[in-house]
Amino acid sequence: MIREYFRVLNVDLATGMGDIVNLEGRDTVAGGSGLAALLFEKYGLPERPWDDPQQPLIFAIGPLTGYFPLMSKTVCAFKSPYHDQYAESHAGGRSAYSLRFADLDALVIQGKAAVPSCLSVGSRHLDLKDARYLWGLDVFQTGQRLRNMSKGTGHRSIWRIGPAGENLSAFACINVDTYRHFGRLGCGAVMGAKNLKGIVVLGDSSFPLPEGKEYAKLFKEVHEKMTTSGMMDKYHNLGTPINMAHLNGLSALPIRNLQKTTDPEIEGISGETFARDTLLRNTACSGCPVGCIHIAFVREKFMDKNQYLYRQVTYDHEPIACAGAMLHVTDPFSVLAYMDTVERCGQDIISAGIALAWATEALEKGLISTKETIVPLKFGDGAVYRQAFEHLGAASNDFYRLLGQGTMKAAEHYGGQDFACVLGQEMAGYATGEAYFVSQALGFRHSHLDTAAYGYDENNKPKEVPKVLQYYVQEEQDRVLLTSLVTCLFARGVYGDHQLTADCLNSLGYKNLAENLDAVGKRVQKMRWQLRVKTGFDPGTVKIPKRFKEIVTWRGPIDESYLDSLQKAYAQKIREMGKPEEEGSPAKN
Ligand code: SF4
Repeated sequence: MIREYFRVLNVDLATGMGDIVNLEGRDTVAGGSGLAALLFEKYGLPERPWDDPQQPLIFAIGPLTGYFPLMSKTVCAFKSPYHDQYAESHAGGRSAYSLRFADLDALVIQGKAAVPSCLSVGSRHLDLKDARYLWGLDVFQTGQRLRNMSKGTGHRSIWRIGPAGENLSAFACINVDTYRHFGRLGCGAVMGAKNLKGIVVLGDSSFPLPEGKEYAKLFKEVHEKMTTSGMMDKYHNLGTPINMAHLNGLSALPIRNLQKTTDPEIEGISGETFARDTLLRNTACSGCPVGCIHIAFVREKFMDKNQYLYRQVTYDHEPIACAGAMLHVTDPFSVLAYMDTVERCGQDIISAGIALAWATEALEKGLISTKETIVPLKFGDGAVYRQAFEHLGAASNDFYRLLGQGTMKAAEHYGGQDFACVLGQEMAGYATGEAYFVSQALGFRHSHLDTAAYGYDENNKPKEVPKVLQYYVQEEQDRVLLTSLVTCLFARGVYGDHQLTADCLNSLGYKNLAENLDAVGKRVQKMRWQLRVKTGFDPGTVKIPKRFKEIVTWRGPIDESYLDSLQKAYAQKIREMGKPEEEGSPAKN
């Protein structure tokens, strides 16, 4: 009932044609992160720049997608405009299920369309349409029009870019359906460079579920763990914004461009406040009984005589921390209003928020003026930030165009590198200390999700370099196995149990893969580092800006000597993991 090989649709935008390729490797790389790395090895051009038309844009799902709960993510792999190296970004929504129902394990897009275009794929069709009339439209307008023109039966997912992607911003997302994103490291710009405004995946096929009692029993067991054990409650209840008050209490929340790590005013944008005052409803990705997506409302008076416009906006810890606390805006409705603007422009709100926090301090310090910022950026002023986010998405002048390539690039030009809150890319919403800062600065995706080392700091584990190193490597390996399967990382408490995951794979017939889970995690971890190093990453050159060394958390001031030793040791470890195999391709080993 299962396929041992991967079924991959390759599309060439230059010709509008595609073909199906069957690829070996299920037992060795599983899918998701592993399959994406395998496909980049096959089609990627490490020596050529990210916007070379032939660079592939890859989307890959896993063997359990569609069969078990929370197997809901798609891995997008590409050469990133942020650092011109191999990168991954992950999204949920209906993306993974639509690929499964379209009978595809992966979609690979190469070439550049002659005019702005929209790609539609399904189990039996491929269509590249002229979409010049969509160029310049925001994410919502584009989504609306693509929905209208792609009616049909089946499980449909719509991916598109906004002005930020068209402007080739390194902050550009690919927005997925409603409220989900391939968010970080600029995959939206890769679509922009390919003249690709939107992708519609039509899941117009079907697939049988395994017969017999074993699969049904396992599904029930997994489903019950997720819905009745309480382990997922926090995601459905307050959601990730529960972290706001917690981190603020620990003096570990980045506030006001990391000038502070705690502030009583943060209560105004805590998870509790958002839930009490703004929350409308929860929603979920396909195949998820948890529903961690929190949707708030924001309304604005657009005319006298009580005429209001009403919008729904999604919120999470990262956007609130990076675009709320870091800009010191502590009114939830102001934050929601500009989150809506960022969403429309198709920007990664983490990077965009941190970039404007740096710009505000640079303006305060006189390194730039309103000639650059156009509007008078001021910590706490939500209305002015809303305009600034629009300028950033639209690349309104040279300053915003450069800032949209990365905060450090702007800081290198205008000064202010010391207070640019960049750890490989703009920091995520944790200021917990040394283990976390080094992990994000050097980590594969420069993401808080690479190793979640904020947990290491928070639990006050020993400041011993070998122990932290062991933690980084093992945690990354465990997570890369999950992202190869491809599960939502919120379900790591369930699928982190390798026996249960092996049982799930066995129930579908993936016996070899089930027996080799540890080896798969290790192999894909190495493959990804090899690709990262091959595309130019030198972990020894990463700099952690001074601002991170100046902060004080509940554990006291940052221990610089511990941080430096940790950074050196992790850089060395990454070099080892990124070393090419002598025998040839790592996938074959
Ligand atoms: S827990 Fe949240 S992010 Fe994960 S699959 Fe469910 S709705 Fe999507």
